Amino acid sequence: MDHFLYRDGALFAEDVPVAEIAKAVGTPFYVYSTATLLRHYRLFDEALEGVDHTVCYAMKAASNQAILRTLAQAGAGMDVVSGGEYLRAKAAGVPGDRIVFSGVGKTADEIRLALEGGVRQFNVESEPEMEVLSAVATELGQTAPITVRINPDVDARTHAKIATGKSENKFGIPISRAREVYAHAARLPGLEVVGIDVHIGSQLTELEPFEQAYTKVAELTEILRGDGHDIRRLDLGGGLGIPYVRDNLAPPLPLDYGAMVKRVLGHLGCEIEIEPGRLIAGNAGLLVSEVIYVKSGEGRDFLILDAAMNDLIRPAMYEAWHDIVPVTEPDPGEVRAVYDIVGPVCETGDTFARARAMPPVAAGDLVAFRSAGAYGAVMSSEYNSRPLIPEVLVKGDQFAVIRRRPTFDEMINRDTIPEWL
Ligand SMILES: *Cc1c(COP(=O)(O)O)cnc(C)c1O
Repeated sequence: MDHFLYRDGALFAEDVPVAEIAKAVGTPFYVYSTATLLRHYRLFDEALEGVDHTVCYAMKAASNQAILRTLAQAGAGMDVVSGGEYLRAKAAGVPGDRIVFSGVGKTADEIRLALEGGVRQFNVESEPEMEVLSAVATELGQTAPITVRINPDVDARTHAKIATGKSENKFGIPISRAREVYAHAARLPGLEVVGIDVHIGSQLTELEPFEQAYTKVAELTEILRGDGHDIRRLDLGGGLGIPYVRDNLAPPLPLDYGAMVKRVLGHLGCEIEIEPGRLIAGNAGLLVSEVIYVKSGEGRDFLILDAAMNDLIRPAMYEAWHDIVPVTEPDPGEVRAVYDIVGPVCETGDTFARARAMPPVAAGDLVAFRSAGAYGAVMSSEYNSRPLIPEVLVKGDQFAVIRRRPTFDEMINRDTIPEWL
């Protein structure tokens, strides 16, 4: 569910006409809905009611500070995967003790940054990392709270590029080695084991893979407690999928997910942490673009937009589907046109959709990509020297630019030409 609906023949973002934002900021741009972000955060929060829990938004999904602050003010923590994300979360006002640090390749500098600024826990992904963390914490005279991310060898049944819980994936330590690795952690100075971490992938559309992984976590909790470790916090990762295609079977709801979590893990008396990203931000954002040309090809028509793969890479990278709808509401009876929908970038992969049936549009019309809030703006680049596009946040009848479009000069002047050239 989101807050991008047609009203009086025009697409609105909450109470603001999308066309009005386009007039103010130009196209293409991303627009996010505060109400949708908060709604999704609260669904998770409510789904875990009755157990001690924290929802740490996986900010890599959409990391603008205005989004982070919106969620943090509602009570969210953050899951960060780099020093840059850590600093961005802090800049947005998130206290260190609500920031969880994940990622397979944390450097000593990143670890130091988080120890100095405060951190809820590190989710450690390997023994070499554990040793570096121990050394840095000891040097700073600190004790770093840690979980170890275990790789449960579970098939998340999602796109191969976003599956993270199989033994061939780079993430975590094999669950079969968990006792050894926890024993190692307990021996190292400067570390305090607080729990277990798992994250098996993204855009999961069924609960079974989660349940398989969490069942293994429950068993491991008992085993590690038997070994003398104080396992009191379980970080269950993110990954719950969203309905990109409106007419397909909707993925399970946060409420069902929460019920499963309580059923599988509730008896352990642990604090539960979850790290949803996509489900919070995905349907809270649109990418809005203008049709530059409609070009007739052999046996097909191309809709050439001013947005491109550098602005939204998901279709090129994951064969992802996004609903693309006209900003002016089509007549219900209107005959559909069929387009290949593309951007101006010089790659055939710059294709958003092939043979897409949609209401006919013309040059100058606005279209909106739905469900573009997660892994959209954050994955954009300046490929083809196209400046990053603006981000806009709507709340009720107000909207604000939360990242402005850089000028061409700003983009170009970042290059420096050596003196000797
Ligand atoms: C990406 C990621 C998430 C968020 O995944 P979503 O599918 O966006 O919910 C959570 N935890 C970790 C460790 C991640 O890498």
